[in-house]
Amino acid sequence: MTEHAGGCHCGNIRLRFSTELDPSQIEVRACQCGFCVKHASRAAADPDGRLTVAVKDIRRLHKYRFGLRTADYLICSECGVYVAAIAAADAVARDDDARAIVIVNALDDQRAFSRQPVPVDFDGESTEQRQARRRLRWMPVELSFG
Ligand SMILES: [Zn+2]
Repeated sequence: MTEHAGGCHCGNIRLRFSTELDPSQIEVRACQCGFCVKHASRAAADPDGRLTVAVKDIRRLHKYRFGLRTADYLICSECGVYVAAIAAADAVARDDDARAIVIVNALDDQRAFSRQPVPVDFDGESTEQRQARRRLRWMPVELSFG
């Protein structure tokens, strides 16, 4: 597995995206929801890979929820960078079922993720459809503190 490191700007949140895929081959998704458009966010996930999110100070981690409220959008409340989204713990059966996407712009080697972003629009999904899609297409995630 190759590890792609990243994080927010101030260093409170660190990311490690582990994948066997070449970053130039990983699909980059440009979600068209109102939140992602405002961030011009480009997201990636490898269902066979893994994301680790390490937070130094949990008081400076903001978990934003909106819409169906089935995911936490992780934003550093110190520097304002949006780094990842995690399907909310109460929306999955067990903690080890948690799934995430990483925001490519928050990775140190973001330029290696060179595929043209694919616009995606999930507005019409039900809660069940959304959870099923994330189980298939998002990746396992570990969130650690301190
Ligand atoms: Zn920060």
